[in-house]
Amino acid sequence: MKCSICGCNQVKEIYNGELKTGLLTGWTSKKYSVFQCEKCKTEWNEAYKDLDIDAFYESAEYRTRIENDISPEAYCAKYDKEVLDKLSMTGTGIFRNRTVADIGCGGGSFIDFIKGVAAKTIAIEPSEIYREGLRKKGHTVFAYAENALDEFAESVDVITSFDVIEHVESPYKFIEDAYKLCTKGGQIIIGTPTDYPVLRKMLGEVFDRFIFQVQHPWVLSDEAMLLMAQKAGFKNVRIEYKQKYGLGNLLSWLLDSTPRGDIKYDFIEESVNEAYKKSMSKKDLCEYIILYAEK
Ligand SMILES: [Zn+2]
Repeated sequence: MKCSICGCNQVKEIYNGELKTGLLTGWTSKKYSVFQCEKCKTEWNEAYKDLDIDAFYESAEYRTRIENDISPEAYCAKYDKEVLDKLSMTGTGIFRNRTVADIGCGGGSFIDFIKGVAAKTIAIEPSEIYREGLRKKGHTVFAYAENALDEFAESVDVITSFDVIEHVESPYKFIEDAYKLCTKGGQIIIGTPTDYPVLRKMLGEVFDRFIFQVQHPWVLSDEAMLLMAQKAGFKNVRIEYKQKYGLGNLLSWLLDSTPRGDIKYDFIEESVNEAYKKSMSKKDLCEYIILYAEK
């Protein structure tokens, strides 16, 4: 077996077992292997080969698996509070009077905020439930980036995408489509979770049962993201490392062996929490990587 990201054939199996099927429901009945490339450190499973991945993401079933309520209103109620965190990754100085596309925008929390300053907003989202609402809010809407190429090839100034590339069948095609959409001088900002190395180290197999999921065929490394962006033709390619969850999340995992989100404890002062996040925002420790690149 070969790593499809870097071409290396030193691939090892790092997990064999059931894969999580959603944030709310259980695990696959079948066992799957998770592989890791020893060179670029990309991890992947191939459960998507057992399902039609496009139809899966377009379906209400998928959204129901990860959300209790699949209405656009419920999406925004849940994700609007994450917009500030995303703006901390993008900055606020790059959107005014620009054409901006958000790939895998869900119900539109982030792109809705960008619409206030951008010249044009392109909302790319496979789920039809959300596309209808996105159209009503005035975005130009497509199901997939490749569908936007006829109209917007070489003409998008800023492309953002958060927590999406790990879901797709081909991460390289994802980056390639972004390159085709980008205007010369345009930029991409693409964020994806890591394999949560500290939680994996602390919790071992308990955490592996949560991290390896049907809907995340990929855990992409910093090296993988850099390689793909360079191969697609991007320049000024760089990665930033980010810790999203605080110390309370780590403690609650250790206590309950289950995800409880970014919970707070009275005895953890915010200054301590911020210091923890800062010390964790490093290569090989952090929970999130962000690829920045220019065309
Ligand atoms: Zn590789």
